[in-house]
Amino acid sequence: RTSQSLTLIGLGPMGQAMAAAYLDRGYDVTLWNRTPSRADALVARGATLAPTVEQALSANELVILSLTDFDAMYAILEPAKDAVAGRTLVNLSSDTPEKARAGARWVTELGGTHLTGGVLCPPPLIGTPDTSTFYSGPRETYDTYRATLEVITGKSDYRGPDQGLAALMYQLNMFIFWPAMVAYWQAVAVAGAHGISAGEIAPYVTENFTGMGHFIDFYAARIDADNHAGDVDRASMGLASMEHVVHTASDAGVDTAFPAAVHDVFRRVVEAGHGADSFSWAVELLKKG
Ligand code: NDP
Repeated sequence: RTSQSLTLIGLGPMGQAMAAAYLDRGYDVTLWNRTPSRADALVARGATLAPTVEQALSANELVILSLTDFDAMYAILEPAKDAVAGRTLVNLSSDTPEKARAGARWVTELGGTHLTGGVLCPPPLIGTPDTSTFYSGPRETYDTYRATLEVITGKSDYRGPDQGLAALMYQLNMFIFWPAMVAYWQAVAVAGAHGISAGEIAPYVTENFTGMGHFIDFYAARIDADNHAGDVDRASMGLASMEHVVHTASDAGVDTAFPAAVHDVFRRVVEAGHGADSFSWAVELLKKG
């Protein structure tokens, strides 16, 4: 069954894009946001702005939350918690797996149903087919609303009944995304110190990121087989190479904190006696916390 009517709470860049995607497809959309003015353009396009949280909740069985984190959910719903019973809350706010599990328990204790989601695309790609969202929680809730939720991202990936799993899968992607982007900005800063623009290095950076797939597939198979052999790369080579990176940054007068943190991981791998193994042995080091 697809619901042609839903409530959306949270109108940051993501919530606004989601509301627009539903309006584009003719859904009847009820909105609520702490800062009501963020609904103006959507109301002009036919959405309804609920005057209270209670009214937003009672307008529809399906309520999508797109908030900064789970604390924002408590801030919004705590004063209206009697209206949560009977609602299905699809919470697309990112947070830790533990926060997602606790949030789901809270909603369930109030008589509502909770499905956790982690959206893997930025606002401009919301509503497009080649995007995906992780979900976890009750399978039947996912099945019931799958078609409606695939308006937000064309694809979805149900990970299981544990409400924390979608949050975990989302966070695993964030472990890659944020540091990878900072690595890129680091390279842009060093390039800039040499009069080279971000645009000039963009094709090389893109090629670098695209080629990462090869490394991920290669090392994933070896890591899962506990194989950290130094036949293709050696951690001692990685340490020397990261030293060059740190010095290239400091010679350019650019901040070195980020490459120095990577250098420190390699240093500890070598100091643990694994300089002749692959730098993938860092996984064993990092596991110990
Ligand atoms: P924002 O942080 O901009 O969303 C903020 C929303 O949360 C606003 O509606 C804001 O209300 C509300 N909010 C925050 N704190 C409170 C509070 N204490 N009480 C009431 N309302 C509160 O996030 P985005 O829209 O960018 O993203 C939403 C979620 O999606 C986040 O969890 C984010 O991690 C995730 N995400 C974001 C992506 C992106 O590229 N932006 C990509 C993928 C996932 P108000 O308008 O009044 O401030």
